[in-house]
Amino acid sequence: MAEKFDFTNYFKTHPDEDGFFGPYGGAYVSPELKKTMQEITDAYFTICKSSKFIAELREIRKNFQGRPTPITYLENLSKSLGNSQIYVKREDLNHSGAHKLNHCMGEALLAKYMGKSKVIAETGAGQHGVALATAAAHFGLECDIYMGSVDIKKQAPNVARMKILGANVIEVTDGLQTLKEAVDAAFTAYTKEYKDCIYCIGSVVGPHPFPMIVRDFQAVVGIESREQFLDMTGELPDAVVACVGGGSNSAGMFAGFLDDPVKLYGVEPLGRGTTLGDHAASLTYGEEGVMHGFNSIMLKGDDNEPAPVYSVASGLDYPSSGPEHAFWKSIDRITYDVIDDEAAIDAFFELSKKEGIIPALESAHAVAYAMKLAKEQSHGSILVNLSGRGDKDMDYVLETYGLR
Ligand SMILES: *Cc1c(COP(=O)(O)O)cnc(C)c1O
Repeated sequence: MAEKFDFTNYFKTHPDEDGFFGPYGGAYVSPELKKTMQEITDAYFTICKSSKFIAELREIRKNFQGRPTPITYLENLSKSLGNSQIYVKREDLNHSGAHKLNHCMGEALLAKYMGKSKVIAETGAGQHGVALATAAAHFGLECDIYMGSVDIKKQAPNVARMKILGANVIEVTDGLQTLKEAVDAAFTAYTKEYKDCIYCIGSVVGPHPFPMIVRDFQAVVGIESREQFLDMTGELPDAVVACVGGGSNSAGMFAGFLDDPVKLYGVEPLGRGTTLGDHAASLTYGEEGVMHGFNSIMLKGDDNEPAPVYSVASGLDYPSSGPEHAFWKSIDRITYDVIDDEAAIDAFFELSKKEGIIPALESAHAVAYAMKLAKEQSHGSILVNLSGRGDKDMDYVLETYGLR
């Protein structure tokens, strides 16, 4: 067992000045990009800590996003599993249907305060692109979304949404034409256009300062949850569960409970199984390495490049996770474990049929893990971050798995 870590003043000291959480994080980018990262860091520490910015962000969260999102007690599901009590934080009710808008609104507001006219990002499954396009529309900013040709074909509804919201969807035809190439293209474009725009990352990943900025904007989820749960039950939950792709919804949720006697579980996608290429459980099976500008734990292929990854939940199939998760794992604060496709699909139907809530397949991984905990333990309360709604997944699930 590692020595108990002292979380006093944690958020002011993590990351450190160079963007490190212990050995993880940093900014492994070209000298030009390093300069622009410094510009964003400086702006973040001045603008985002001003009461004017904070007041505007609070107003947006309340009147545009519909925050605070509620916590729902799942009586039927809980009863069917034993004597544990399961609750869900309803990020599916956040405007645009997932937690991603929490950091996109913050990033776009920062762009506005910095006097930029445009935001740039890449997207894989299209969820980050849609959230950023929503934020850009709200603030009257131009929005360029880089997306691989393969993903454009696979994610037609999200491409349509981004276009309707006024974003430019820019097709990337290099290499495998998926997320990795889209990241490279977006970074290249940003290097050329940084005077007028900022790059908005989709999770707690990438070079410093992004893992910190996204965590801070997502922390609203954990802060609200802690207060709401105490208000509902008079106690803290015994366990908190969230799914981990890049790690933003989980980082935001965990941020509210790090210094509490609460067990925290990060759930990674096991996909079809433990063979490399069949899953995206990077913290569970990966090793230390640098990709996309940061040092963390990643899944490597033979060539030391990011390995191909897979999950039924496209928002979870990333070959690494945020550096802060690697750090939390290294100090034993958070337990990272896995759920495979099958269990996630089961949870998708269970939550829908027993509670009238259709979860995103990503969030269904966290629900499945809570169901497993509830069956194993004799009692206790479990709070799950329901990161998004499942409308986007319904057609695929029915076609591939049929009704259950
Ligand atoms: C993108 C996404 C995720 C995974 O991203 P994190 O950064 O790990 O939170 C999880 N749930 C939903 C609904 C998503 O859209």
